[in-house]
Amino acid sequence: MDPRLVRLAEHTIGFMPPNEGLVLYRAALQAGPLGALLEIGSYCGKSAVYLGAGAKEAGTILFSVDHHRGSEEQQPGQEYFDQRVVDPTTGRVDTLLLFRRTIDAAGLEDTVVPIVGRSEIVARRWTTPVALVFIDGGHSEESVRSDFEGWAPHVVRGGLLVFHDIYPDPSKGGQAPYRVYSEALAGGDFEVALAEGSLRVLKRVGDPLRDFVPTRQGLAAE
Ligand code: SAH
Ligand code: MG
Repeated sequence: MDPRLVRLAEHTIGFMPPNEGLVLYRAALQAGPLGALLEIGSYCGKSAVYLGAGAKEAGTILFSVDHHRGSEEQQPGQEYFDQRVVDPTTGRVDTLLLFRRTIDAAGLEDTVVPIVGRSEIVARRWTTPVALVFIDGGHSEESVRSDFEGWAPHVVRGGLLVFHDIYPDPSKGGQAPYRVYSEALAGGDFEVALAEGSLRVLKRVGDPLRDFVPTRQGLAAE
């Protein structure tokens, strides 16, 4: 990955250690030829720089979904509150401007497409197949489950489903993402492809070409 982008990501406010970020970059490179990528949880654009760099090299784009109002644990008085992401006019968390600055600085404005809204509202109307879904939005069990149930069905065969903040050891972190991740694995549609830190990359079982059948039929008819 372009070292300037690695440095930019490292200086961006957020929650993505470089070793896990580079795995995101490689996952984006790998999945990119199968279609568009999508992440839930843009925050200030840290993970979007890694995923976006891979997307650009692979010739695809990244949709980045966030209401930009922060998760529960990022609100004033909570563990992950950061005064720098408060809009001084409204007094509310608003990471949209910082996200935009990051994507602009990365030269990724034509690659990373922000979707500003609640993940569950967007997912309900979504119809485009995606090659990679990265789940890093709200970390409550309800939130992670709704992201999994709303987005996993859109992942193409051979595509990747990536979870963040997976801690099998309860002393290391919250258990909600781990529980949903375990259910995703037990469901049989996904198998583990790779683990790095708290990142887990799953792959949708099946032959990717099966998702291209309509296109091939279309070509055959011409
Ligand atoms: N991926 C980021 C960190 C994401 S933090 C990084 O690399 O730094 C989690 C983000 O999820 C927050 O910005 C929060 O606003 C967003 N979020 C939480 N619940 C959400 C929901 N239901 N819909 C959309 N975004 C949500
Ligand atoms: Mg995270």
